[in-house]
Amino acid sequence: MITLGLDIGSVAAKGVLLTPNANWQVVIPTGWSPRDTGQQLIAELTRLADINRDDIDAIVATGYGRISVPEANKAITEITCHAKGLTSLLPEVRTIIDIGGQDSKVIRLNGAGKIIDFAMNDKCAAGTGRFLQVMAQVLGMDVSELADAEVPDEMVSINSMCTVFAESEIIGHLAQGKSRGGLVAGLHQSVAKRVAAMAARVGVVGPVAFTGGVAKNGGIRRALEEELKVSLLTPTDCQFTGALGAALLAREL
Ligand code: ADP
Repeated sequence: MITLGLDIGSVAAKGVLLTPNANWQVVIPTGWSPRDTGQQLIAELTRLADINRDDIDAIVATGYGRISVPEANKAITEITCHAKGLTSLLPEVRTIIDIGGQDSKVIRLNGAGKIIDFAMNDKCAAGTGRFLQVMAQVLGMDVSELADAEVPDEMVSINSMCTVFAESEIIGHLAQGKSRGGLVAGLHQSVAKRVAAMAARVGVVGPVAFTGGVAKNGGIRRALEEELKVSLLTPTDCQFTGALGAALLAREL
């Protein structure tokens, strides 16, 4: 059986193609049209796997753009797809913390991998990957450079909760000559505090996994581990968990 999971996120679109011989994955920027992005992912994955579109038995779409993918046989929520994907990789996990481009979520699982509770912030950019992208730009670096740039010993706390005000706060600190590495550490701390407060609402039970594109940032992982006082498990392909779950759920259609 050949199945495809498409996770059309707010920032990045991820596709996972499961074939009997190999698994393929692709990530591209979502762009302005979720529909075109879905088609691009299908074209790229079928090219890589050297198959035709008609060889795919079922497609499941997830992510914020999931309803805009006409090729999909079914659209399934991110919470369900993340839980499915993560438990296929780390079945022992009881809490998933996922930070994406535009939302962050905490999912609690029972010992059988079933979702028993979740919390989600999709109303405010603070505490998400987009917040980090904006701040990285103000600091003259790419989001992938933040982890190496942070200097926790020189931490400058960021007090503004709102992305727009936090940006002004950072510009003010830079004008006063504050350390850039200290500011990055402060940004990581502010995201971790927000997410930890949300996690406290559903309760954090170990083992805990950290996923989503932001899980690639080792500075956020460090700050979250400090806030939650637990060590976090991160699968190598942490950004693909939702797309993997979608591809696995497509097998059940
Ligand atoms: P969405 O599904 O909402 O598009 P993702 O889970 O794909 O979100 O995560 C996107 C976010 O991941 C970006 O906003 C960025 O902050 C972060 N990110 C992506 N790549 C990297 C990287 N190499 N290093 C650090 N952070 C990254």
